[in-house]
Parts: sequence; C-alpha cells; structure tokens
Amino acid sequence: MATVLTERTRFILDEDRIPRAWYNIAADLPSPPPPPLHPGTGQPIGPGDLAPLFPMELIKQVVATDREIEIPDPVRDAYKLYRPSPLHRARRLEKALDTPAHIYYKYEGGSPSGSHKPNTALAQAYFNKAEGVTRLATETGAGQWGSALAFAGAAFDLEIKVFMVRASYDQKPYRRVLMETYGASVVPSPSRDTQYGQQVLAENPRHTGSLGVAISEAIEDTVTHPGTKYSLGSVFDFVLLHQTVIGQETIEQMALAGEEPDVIIGCAGGGSNFAGLTFPWLGQTFRGGRRYKVIAAEPEAAPSLTRGVYAYDFGDTAKTTPLVKMHTLGADFIPEPIHAGGLRYHGMAPLVSHLKELGAIEARSVHQVACFAAGVQFARAEGILPAPEPTHALKVAIDEALDAKAAGEERVILFNLCGHGHFDLSAYEKFLAGTLEDYEYPDAAVQKALASLPTIAS
Ligand SMILES: *Cc1c(COP(=O)(O)O)cnc(C)c1O
Repeated sequence: MATVLTERTRFILDEDRIPRAWYNIAADLPSPPPPPLHPGTGQPIGPGDLAPLFPMELIKQVVATDREIEIPDPVRDAYKLYRPSPLHRARRLEKALDTPAHIYYKYEGGSPSGSHKPNTALAQAYFNKAEGVTRLATETGAGQWGSALAFAGAAFDLEIKVFMVRASYDQKPYRRVLMETYGASVVPSPSRDTQYGQQVLAENPRHTGSLGVAISEAIEDTVTHPGTKYSLGSVFDFVLLHQTVIGQETIEQMALAGEEPDVIIGCAGGGSNFAGLTFPWLGQTFRGGRRYKVIAAEPEAAPSLTRGVYAYDFGDTAKTTPLVKMHTLGADFIPEPIHAGGLRYHGMAPLVSHLKELGAIEARSVHQVACFAAGVQFARAEGILPAPEPTHALKVAIDEALDAKAAGEERVILFNLCGHGHFDLSAYEKFLAGTLEDYEYPDAAVQKALASLPTIAS
C-alpha cells in the first residue's frame, strides 16, 4: 500500500481528543453473539440476575445496541491523568530486524498503574460510586488489574478488596505493596477469607491459585458483604467496551502518521486489551471499510482461542458465574504458572470468541521463552521494557515483520504494548540467566477439564 514517509516516531494527541464515547461493537456485528445463560434454567439471563454483582449502568451497557456510549465527565477527567496515550513508530526495532515493514505500537504502559487496565477500572469505580456502593471485591492474576482497581478506588473513594492469585502473590510482592499504597487490602488466593478458598486449601494446601479460583472467591465475598459489588478486569462485554478508547485514539494517530495498518495485533488473556485496540478498526470494516488482518496472540500454556472448544462454560472454577459461550479449555483447567499471569485464564471473552467464529479475527499461540527474547530485543531497540503479556503480541509483530522481509513487502504492523514490565524483573532475570522454561501444551489436563463441560438444559 502507499505510505507517506515521515521521520516522526511519536504521535501525540491533545487532551481534547480523548474520546467522548466508548465504541460499542454490538451496533456493527453481522450477527449477535449467543446470550449468557442461567446455569440452573438454561435460559438467557436477565438484568435481575446480574444486579447483585454490578451497578445498573454497567448492566445496561451489556445489553445496549447504540454504537456510542457516552463517557461521563468525571471518568473523562480521570482519563486526563494519562490519556491520550502515545502511538510510537518502532523505527529502531525495524532497523534491528532489517525489515521493510513499518511497526507501530500503542503504549498503554504510561498509565498510573502501568497498563491499559485503568481505562475500565476508573469507569467501574465511577458507576459503582454513583449508585451508592462503598466497597468493591475483585481478583487479580499478575497484579495489574488489582493495582488498577486500587488506584481507581483511591480516585473515587471506594474500599477495595483484592484476591490475588497465589503464584503471582509470591512472584510479585511489589505489586501487592503498590495496591496497599493506593489503600486496597490484598490476600493471596486461595485464601481463608472465603468458604470456597478454605475448601480449595483443604484439598491442596500448596495450591498456586488461578484466576478461576480467585474469581470464585471475589464473587463469594461480594454476595456475603453488604454495600459490596464485584469488579472484574477482563472478559465481560462492558470491560471490552471501556477499553475501546485505545483503538479510537489509534485510528486518529495512524491518520497523523499517514498510514493504515495491514496487520493489527493484541495479546489475549481475557481479551480486553485486544478488543480495546481492534474493535474500533473492525467496526470500520463491518460498516463497509477495508479488511485488516487481526491477530490475537496467546500463550502456548493457555491457548483457549487456538486449541480450546467453542462451547458454553463457566467463567470461574467454583462454577458460580453465568454460562457464556466462548473458546474454553474447561473451567477446571489450571494453566501452568507462566510469567504472563494476565494470560493465565481458561476462557476468552465471548465477543472475541464470536469474532473468531465469524472469521473476522485469527489467533496464534507462542511460547514464553521466545516472547521474553522478543521483549529483550525490544527493550534494547526501543528502550521500553514490555510486560510479559504484550511480549506475546510483540513476538507475533516481529514474526510478521520478518515474514514481510522474506516477501519483500512494506507491511504496516500495529500492536498494543499494553503494559510495562517493571514489576516483572524477576522473570527477566530468569530469562537472562537462561533458566526460564517453556511449558508444552498440556493436552491431557485440557481433555480432562473439557470432559466436565456443563450440559445445557434446553
Ligand atoms: C491484564 C493484562 C492482560 C490480559 O488481559 P486482557 O483482558 O486479555 O487484556 C494483558 N496485558 C497486561 C499488561 C495486563 O495487565
């Protein structure tokens, strides 16, 4: 494609270019995704089923079909602390790879907690506060979501209780200190604070935890504490919605750069940063615009999109959530403790899964050692140390750039660098010492978990 060459490497928007509305892809989808079902009745859930967990405004966002959902002023004001985020052209990485490809990355690591997560944390805290909620319970994997919600709790004056997956709690003590500095209280999950946690610990006192277990604990905490609602950092439709500020800004910034991406890449754990970057671009396609190659990058140790089945399943291990149709490895599947803790989830956002079924996106799985190698190469070229999760997107971006080189093509590649890795230095230390290991795809464990997928009453 035609490109305008420019020497600029950073594309910055003014504060007044922060989007005024979130982009709701439901307005443009060629067909709607299958509805969430009540596990008892097998019938689609209604707003009443979600009311114990979420404030009404967020529930309304899940069923809304308007293309634009207005961002309330207090949320937009809080976004001004770190938005619009910059778009960079990775010229030094291009040079290191000796590729004719142009590589762009949207950098969300400059937010107060260091990832894209405050985009939804601030929105969720605001809508809860506005409806009289005083306390939020949540889970966190790598600690990025817990940090973001702890920051949002400080911004909107809410108490925050965080169930942190044990493996990360032990690997990343400073994430806990950051959450506590913002004022949150943090316990390792499985914990003794819930009946479910006690039950899991009784079976295995050395359980390293998983997002599925931590979600179950946070939900139990919510329904047993008055004034408390549940908050989550990924998977749910309204979380993906709030993240669309990323893609909307990027569309303007690529226009400033005078280019259009051929390939758009995001790492996918629950799917929110991937959706945040790609949905506004996919919306343009659905409305009759050009098609992009859109790739979700996931870990080989938890490859729900590439190896999972598309089926109704629970979002958590205790099987308390509604049933959602998604690519899943089975709610009982506990991924190996890879360092990209944010990608250790058995399922995928229903909207992202639906897009995969429609053929609008593709997926690739990658091993962690190759991802860390890409992370080190990136740090040496561009100066930013990526979080382990976006090194998966980076690895795919580099593969695309090398492929473009082999084909002699000037491909334009855009990926989401959704967080920095300053709290992940122990993982980089292992990589640099040569002791980091790959985990093979655990076929037997997945087959076992898939054997107990729920059956749907119909
Ligand atoms: C939470 C997190 C992820 C995984 O969550 P998604 O919903 O898939 O975005 C990926 N990267 C970073 C930096 C995170 O904090």
